[in-house]
Amino acid sequence: MNEISKSSLSQEIYQGPHWDNSSEYSDLHAAEFSEDLDAFKKSIGRIQEQSKLFDSEIERIDQLSAMDFELIEAAGRLRHSADEAFVVGANLGTFVSCLLSVNGGNAQARQMQAVLRQLMTQLSEALTSLELILTKAPESFVGACLARSEFKAHAFAIRKEREWSPHMLSLSEERILTRFAVNGLQAWGTLYDNISSSLQCEVDFNGTVTRMGLARAAGTQQSGNRAEREAGYKAVQKAWETQQESCASVLNALSGWRLDNYKTRSKSRKLNFIDKPLHGNRIEKETLEAMMLVVEQNAEVAREALRFKAKAMNIDALAPWDLFAPAPTSEPEDEMIPFEEAISLIRTAFADVDPQMGEFVDVMVKNRWIEGTVTDTKRPGAYCTRFAKSRTPRVYMTYKGTLEDVGTLAHELGHAFHNWVMRDLSLPETYYPMTLAETASIFAETVVSHVLVKNAANQQAKEKILWGELGSAEAFLLNIPARFWFETEFYERRAERTLTPDEFSELMNKSWQRAYGNTLSEMNRMFWCSKLHFHISGTSFYNFPYTFGYLFALGVYAQRKRQGKEFYANYVNLLRDTGRMSAEDLAREYLGVELSEPRFWQDSIAIVRRQCGAFLS
Ligand SMILES: [Zn+2]
Repeated sequence: MNEISKSSLSQEIYQGPHWDNSSEYSDLHAAEFSEDLDAFKKSIGRIQEQSKLFDSEIERIDQLSAMDFELIEAAGRLRHSADEAFVVGANLGTFVSCLLSVNGGNAQARQMQAVLRQLMTQLSEALTSLELILTKAPESFVGACLARSEFKAHAFAIRKEREWSPHMLSLSEERILTRFAVNGLQAWGTLYDNISSSLQCEVDFNGTVTRMGLARAAGTQQSGNRAEREAGYKAVQKAWETQQESCASVLNALSGWRLDNYKTRSKSRKLNFIDKPLHGNRIEKETLEAMMLVVEQNAEVAREALRFKAKAMNIDALAPWDLFAPAPTSEPEDEMIPFEEAISLIRTAFADVDPQMGEFVDVMVKNRWIEGTVTDTKRPGAYCTRFAKSRTPRVYMTYKGTLEDVGTLAHELGHAFHNWVMRDLSLPETYYPMTLAETASIFAETVVSHVLVKNAANQQAKEKILWGELGSAEAFLLNIPARFWFETEFYERRAERTLTPDEFSELMNKSWQRAYGNTLSEMNRMFWCSKLHFHISGTSFYNFPYTFGYLFALGVYAQRKRQGKEFYANYVNLLRDTGRMSAEDLAREYLGVELSEPRFWQDSIAIVRRQCGAFLS
């Protein structure tokens, strides 16, 4: 494709290939698909039978011991059957969701997805009793279970869950809480979702007022036209102002529920509101504190980036509606990069880390494991997935040839590499927490972006790449910390009483100022309403794992130079252990650093400083 003149081609010519998933099933009607579906259904029936024993044993959970030989053996059998069934169910599920990504209107695939979801729920319900027993039963019993081969792959996760057991209530209390949360805690999250999906705003641009939903209005934030961005931003703010009371009620209720919940669970050891998010993300409090401290001390690194952006855009200071603005380039049409060229670029960058990483890119291309076509039926977005049976990864995206697309492709191939190096481990050993999920992807993106900058044909291309990196610095070093500080102080104050809408706005203003300093002409006071993350019923503090992931990946990248030839083996082993070691242990073992000390985080920020510095010079 390289020999064809670039300018004469439409966007489609740069597109990527169509993926090939026929190694799993030829299609939804294939005999192999029905066979797997049948086998999956039958095994769920058997598992439901097997699990009855544990439903009854739950009553005498406190008396269980290593002497319950038959029960321990039965536990092993149930675990084994469930693991086997899960592989088949997950394989079918991945195949169907791949079909739906390419064509969301595929009605048969949609029906099948509903069927599979139902079956998966049945499978996990059948395991509830066994899982509860393993979390709460005496060590003697659990130790005997974990010594069995069927539990080897689950041991780390079970041990982690058991650390939480001092905070568990009695079984009947836990069940009541779970049941009541549906119309309590979760209902508040649903209320927010309903408001945000139905809320309309009026964008007043160039004298024309257009009524639109919030999702469409959010699109204006990427516009190259400053007036359009401002109009979109202000319309969204105005719409949220009408919903302040509801949003304040949602936040007060979600946090109040959680604080009561934590208090009830503090009988043997006091729980702080940050403990549960830390536990879920498998990091220690000292690690989070060290990271946030270094981030705050180095806020100027990202602030400089914003001042520079303002200069490049010919304005005194950025406003909140400028944070997602594209790089100001004089030429409207940037140079497009055909898919093959992007692949060869990424291959070169990966191979520079280690030849095997370069070969991995060949494997992905040769097997057609990448979906990159441009069609009207495809769902937006990009992701990486894997088939549970063959353990082969797939990358999904719409590749149109922009520089952002190259970055996305590198990012998703990073995820795919992570899956690839874990392909011989059993599935339960490969589930990593959010804090470690982006290690391989951001590492890959960084590696490729450095090669891109080095090879950039012109100054504009270079600027566009670096512009994206300045954006990351702002997002992870200023915006996410502002959310974290807001939520921390909110929970502290909420323990005393509920907050009013004005108090929420004031607190948000203060948190943004703490992060952004004097780099913005105004702060986003309504951010506590407009940001979904504060209103999710399932998790609180849905923020610090992002900054952690970003800085952790860069910290790993920093070790590349330091460790030289030894780096690659350490990197692969680190990725392989992301599902069975804590972040602190991984860092100690493979990077030789302590995450609770500032140094590691300072090294990561030094990379950001260099990236920004490259732009400023
Ligand atoms: Zn990712």
